[in-house]
Amino acid sequence: MSTLDRASRWSQGLDTTCVLCKNAADTRSHLFFECDYSAQIWEFIAKGILRDSYTVIWSEILAILLDEKREKMSLFCIRYAFQEVLYAVWRERNKLMHGDKLLPLPVIKRMIDKGIRNKISLMRMKGIKGMEKLMQFWFLTRM
Ligand SMILES: [Zn+2]
Repeated sequence: MSTLDRASRWSQGLDTTCVLCKNAADTRSHLFFECDYSAQIWEFIAKGILRDSYTVIWSEILAILLDEKREKMSLFCIRYAFQEVLYAVWRERNKLMHGDKLLPLPVIKRMIDKGIRNKISLMRMKGIKGMEKLMQFWFLTRM
């Protein structure tokens, strides 16, 4: 991903302010998820999974994603949630940069939650074991 701070090394004078919050430089660690805007989406999706280990710090998130000792259902959910939130934030940021409007936050949050439930349903229909339990686990993270 070429965030703006990197792009600005190539084209001088480019505005490197985050288009989502207009409060900080557009860097990877800002965008994922120190930015007030993206943190709201990340918190909604990830806090119920991570509970006490919830964080917005990129390096800490990566350590969690790579932690094979983590309980399996929790690991699956946080990995998949991370992908989905990353993609959604990146897409919204690019839309803004091209002059389009952002989707309202509640809509994005619902879309991601629904996307994850659909993914689990699909795996259940394919007969993959443990998906019933995984769906229950997902619902518990939403409370
Ligand atoms: Zn920002």
